[in-house]
Amino acid sequence: MTHPAKLQTPHVLLINPWIHDFAAYDFWAKPLGLLYLAAILRLHGFQISYIDCLDRFHPESKDGKKENSDGRFITAGKKDGRGPYLKTPIPNPRGLEKVSRKYSRYGIKPEWFVRDLSAIPRPDLIMITSLMTYWYSGVKETIEITKTIFPDTPVICGGIYATLCHDHAVLNLGADHVVSGPGEEIILKIASDFTGYSPTVLFDAKDLSTYPYPAFDLQRKIPYVPLMTSRGCPFSCAYCAGNFLHPERMVRPPEQVLEEIKFWYEKFGVINFAFYDDALLVDSENHALKLFEAIIRKDLKIRFHTPNALHIREIDQTTAQLMYRAGFETIRLGLETAAFEERNKLDRKVTESEFQRAVTCLLKAGFKKEQIGAYLLVGLPGQDIDSITASIEVVKKAGITPVPAHYTPIPHTRLWEKAVQCSRYELESDPVFTNNAIFPCSNDEFSWKTLSLLKRLAVN
Ligand code: SF4
Repeated sequence: MTHPAKLQTPHVLLINPWIHDFAAYDFWAKPLGLLYLAAILRLHGFQISYIDCLDRFHPESKDGKKENSDGRFITAGKKDGRGPYLKTPIPNPRGLEKVSRKYSRYGIKPEWFVRDLSAIPRPDLIMITSLMTYWYSGVKETIEITKTIFPDTPVICGGIYATLCHDHAVLNLGADHVVSGPGEEIILKIASDFTGYSPTVLFDAKDLSTYPYPAFDLQRKIPYVPLMTSRGCPFSCAYCAGNFLHPERMVRPPEQVLEEIKFWYEKFGVINFAFYDDALLVDSENHALKLFEAIIRKDLKIRFHTPNALHIREIDQTTAQLMYRAGFETIRLGLETAAFEERNKLDRKVTESEFQRAVTCLLKAGFKKEQIGAYLLVGLPGQDIDSITASIEVVKKAGITPVPAHYTPIPHTRLWEKAVQCSRYELESDPVFTNNAIFPCSNDEFSWKTLSLLKRLAVN
């Protein structure tokens, strides 16, 4: 939690809400959009407070150690920055009572949240973000508690769920206003409408290079920094909402990204960085390769991770070597399926020969098998187990690690209609049914037993 000592201009409280789910873990997951908005507001003179309901380093957790509900201790996490959230069991949501897995609130205890809220001066405006569509009840609970402490302050909700399921959010969250689309384009207008303070605009929402660095310094600790060197993707995969969320592609100059990396490294000692780009390697000669070369020249002892998959067809020997020398440690490839002859219905990202070539180049550059994972979508509408096990075998045969990724049906994607038709749940009635942990588009073939079998197959 961070808050200003002295308030002159309007005071905005930004909140990263709880997650309600069957499973959650901090895989380099930070509310980058919210922290960009915090930085933009700060740049324009607003007073900022920040509360992260997913804070793994909350002081109540005794320096990152706190007994979890299952008796284990949460810790500060791994050396690459990832780590577990504190979790508290809560009842399964309506309609999923029969799912035989524990449902939990991930994040700080509600009483810590109430104490943190009570400790800050009354804000003039509260902004809450939202991420996965099926996490909306975590946002709702965050808003409910926030309103008990600040009943007279307007609460605005934006983010991915608010954009993809706008009408549902308006009806269900209890927010005073729900916004859709990229927040940078409307943040100052909204802040001005609600507070009456209208500063001169100091950045261009359509130009990433004019944005201030996201306000990671508002966190208690910075175990890693997500980097966004570009936004948007030229592809249009049937299962992805990237184009709906960010229809225009924007790119930052490589030298500016390097300055940001140096800033977090030199001022805050950050050594782990996670690329959040949808398409980091697209047009790489003019973008990513220049950045990797500049990083190598600086000889910074840092590590890079790519939780958002890389485009396989862009990886040749030069790219693989530069990535290795720049300090890439975790490589994730967007393979999705190895049923290459059928994939045109889903995407046009990669052919079999391009996949094999990329893997050969990465291994030759020096990456170890364990560092290179290929995401494989599991639970697509109409997908059978045999095609998944076949894909796992293709990846293992190529000499790298299969990483099963559960398919989430997402509104506004090309696959949504088919997902709605295939699902054993009423997907359109409640986003909670799109939770990928319950394989909403699969039949009973996808039992937990089958899933653990697939997991075992992927690691052995
Ligand atoms: S390539 Fe990746 S980001 Fe682009 S549309 Fe496909 S899944 Fe989405």
